[in-house]
Amino acid sequence: MTEEGILVLNAGSSSVKFTVFALAGRSLAPKLHGQVEGIGTGITRRLVARNRSGEPVADEPWPSGTHQDILQHLINWIHATEGNKLHLRAAGHRVVHGGMLHDAPVRVTPAILEQLRVFVPLAPLHQPHNLAPIETLAKLYPELPQIACFDTAFHRHKRPEASLVGLPRRYLDAGIKRYGFHGLSYEYIAGRLTELDPTRAKGRVIAAHLGSGASMCAMKDGVAIDSSMGFTAVDGLMMGTRPGSLDPGIILHLLQQEKLDVPALEKLLYRESGLLGVSGGLSNDMRILLDSDSPAAQEAIDLFVYRAAKEIGALAVTIGGLDVLVFTAGIGERSAEIRKRICALVSWMGIKLDPAANTTHALRISTDDSPIAVWAIPTDEELMIARHTARLIEHAP
Ligand code: ADP
Repeated sequence: MTEEGILVLNAGSSSVKFTVFALAGRSLAPKLHGQVEGIGTGITRRLVARNRSGEPVADEPWPSGTHQDILQHLINWIHATEGNKLHLRAAGHRVVHGGMLHDAPVRVTPAILEQLRVFVPLAPLHQPHNLAPIETLAKLYPELPQIACFDTAFHRHKRPEASLVGLPRRYLDAGIKRYGFHGLSYEYIAGRLTELDPTRAKGRVIAAHLGSGASMCAMKDGVAIDSSMGFTAVDGLMMGTRPGSLDPGIILHLLQQEKLDVPALEKLLYRESGLLGVSGGLSNDMRILLDSDSPAAQEAIDLFVYRAAKEIGALAVTIGGLDVLVFTAGIGERSAEIRKRICALVSWMGIKLDPAANTTHALRISTDDSPIAVWAIPTDEELMIARHTARLIEHAP
């Protein structure tokens, strides 16, 4: 019997991550998850994939070719792996920028695609890669409904001044605003928190998405009010390889005194800074830094924790206090040590961490009498994309 499926794609500069969900009525179950990595790099291109039980189903070299070849191979591989019993009903895509136009996912048409290309200069490192598979699939399978899900959309209802920057009005009018990112993750967390703690989810919540990219989002009643990320995903917290908020005078100094050109500056800000840079080039991986006794590694961790705690304080102001703090993404979900250190710096706000719950990675990691509840909730951006996609195609032919 043929099963209906939804393909979720998250395409970056060097990899295409994919998840196939089986769609039965309104329920979605992940079947395959993996990525084609090494695209556009010197290293060999590979496909790695796991099935729904997490067992490896592929770890193999992947043929070189155009973007179109890669996607065509991938879809053939998915069909072959599923014994040709899967009918792909739609594709859902992670698209970093929806600008001020989109506060919800949309079905992509040629006109929408044209519109989304306008945002390429606002997110040059992400948007072109996100749009490429949409264009390719539209050529390969013109009948396949494609849904664009935006990282910015969840932030579109934040308080108005949270979108502004202190530049002359003409730049604001040209789209230089604070958009906010990781919106699919925050939307998932807001929904999950409502299931876990419906009363407090209506209150003042800060979600900390601490992965290789890191940001925080302040919400009230599940609506985003402000975020640490702004015009680009370099702003805010210190991250794996990005510095986060930086005195703009430093950029001028680097251009004028250090004579960095724009490509070098871009590389510095996106790939060489953050945990990697401050640890003296040791690693952008928090696990390696936590295991290291190098003073530079320890300083990188201290800075990461300090900046995170400071941001919690700042975001609490935007929502007038705090009822719930949620940790998510790689570091937030898995590092009891980092959660402990961040919570220690904001304990004065009324956070009482339960050490046993924290180290065993329970969902709720604060004590029962903690005025502020603390949770560690695994995020699922792919599921969020699949849900939006399923909803939008519900009435489509
Ligand atoms: P991405 O933004 O690439 O999706 P993830 O959310 O998967 O990132 O987070 C990746 C990061 O999570 C890694 O770089 C690593 O620093 C961190 N991480 C993963 N597991 C742990 C762990 N057990 N302890 C500390 N950090 C971890």
